[in-house]
Amino acid sequence: MNIKNNINLLERELSEKKCKLIAVSKTQPVEKIMEAYQAGQRVFGENKAKELEKKFVELPKDIEWHMIGHLQTNKVKYIAPFVSLIHSVDSQKLLEEINKQGNKCNRVIPCLLQVHIANEESKFGLKYENLITLLDTVNNYPFVKVTGLMGMATLTDDEKQIAKEFTQLKHYFEELKSKKFSKNIEMKELSMGMSSDYTIAVELGSTMVRIGTAIFGERNKT
Ligand SMILES: *Cc1c(COP(=O)(O)O)cnc(C)c1O
Repeated sequence: MNIKNNINLLERELSEKKCKLIAVSKTQPVEKIMEAYQAGQRVFGENKAKELEKKFVELPKDIEWHMIGHLQTNKVKYIAPFVSLIHSVDSQKLLEEINKQGNKCNRVIPCLLQVHIANEESKFGLKYENLITLLDTVNNYPFVKVTGLMGMATLTDDEKQIAKEFTQLKHYFEELKSKKFSKNIEMKELSMGMSSDYTIAVELGSTMVRIGTAIFGERNKT
């Protein structure tokens, strides 16, 4: 894998569409992350809080770290002091804990709400009704700022299915954008698309893609 080349090609493709690249570095060693860093990449995504914290400590401080994976409430404290964006907020309990930890380190933590769009039961995320209910409580959490939505499509080769799911998410996003919520909600980011489906996601209005394999190659299964 030529990490630098992969980053440069993706950057060129995505900047035309004004879409941000989150380099998903989970399970990757710091040397590989540094290769991407040297190619100019500054935004990285991880899916485990402890691993994220460790990499934050070891790597350059101008990196923006995003939490993209399912987050347990008892792990929020490890990333609250520095995390740039949490993509995967999917419950009241988690939002409450992020607010509590944000308060402790006196920073407002940017968050996306994760929406369930896949037809698989296993994927995390909120149903639309629960998303609305949750949004109505965000004014109680001054140390949280909700800046958009995240979703994962079904893992399938069926591009029509994927497009249908991303279209649904984009529709929710636009609908919420036009609504009035508390001032710590600003619908501007739509995080959708990974290595296998990012071209579809970008066509359908993604503002952030989370790409691992297409940059770093296959991950070692852990
Ligand atoms: C691992 C992961 C990705 C990246 O997946 P690739 O197929 O390697 O691009 C994106 N989003 C989430 C939430 C992930 O856990």
